[in-house]
Amino acid sequence: MAMYCKNCGASLPENVQFCSACGTATGFAAQAVPGAVRSPLVRPREGRKVAGVCVGFAKAYGWDVLLVRILMMVGAIVIFPLAEIAYIVAWLAMPDEPFSLPFTTGVPPGSS
Ligand SMILES: [Zn+2]
Repeated sequence: MAMYCKNCGASLPENVQFCSACGTATGFAAQAVPGAVRSPLVRPREGRKVAGVCVGFAKAYGWDVLLVRILMMVGAIVIFPLAEIAYIVAWLAMPDEPFSLPFTTGVPPGSS
């Protein structure tokens, strides 16, 4: 039974702990050791649909991105406008994921 990376969709051998393509913990590892691989709460630069808030929470807490998005969509309707406000607050509160390459100027973008 083949497995697929939740992050990049790469086909993986069974029972691998991490995706060989992107390093994301696979479902097997995520279930075996919940929360063991935890990312900081940031908005990833890849995989965004709107602002990356859903992806950021999913990655930080090991949740399923699709599940977070579904809950967000349901919440946007059921508890309008609280979900929208919460999303915007999270958007403002969560920093962008740092670039992979270090900055050489010492001045972060948008800090002026
Ligand atoms: Zn991957």
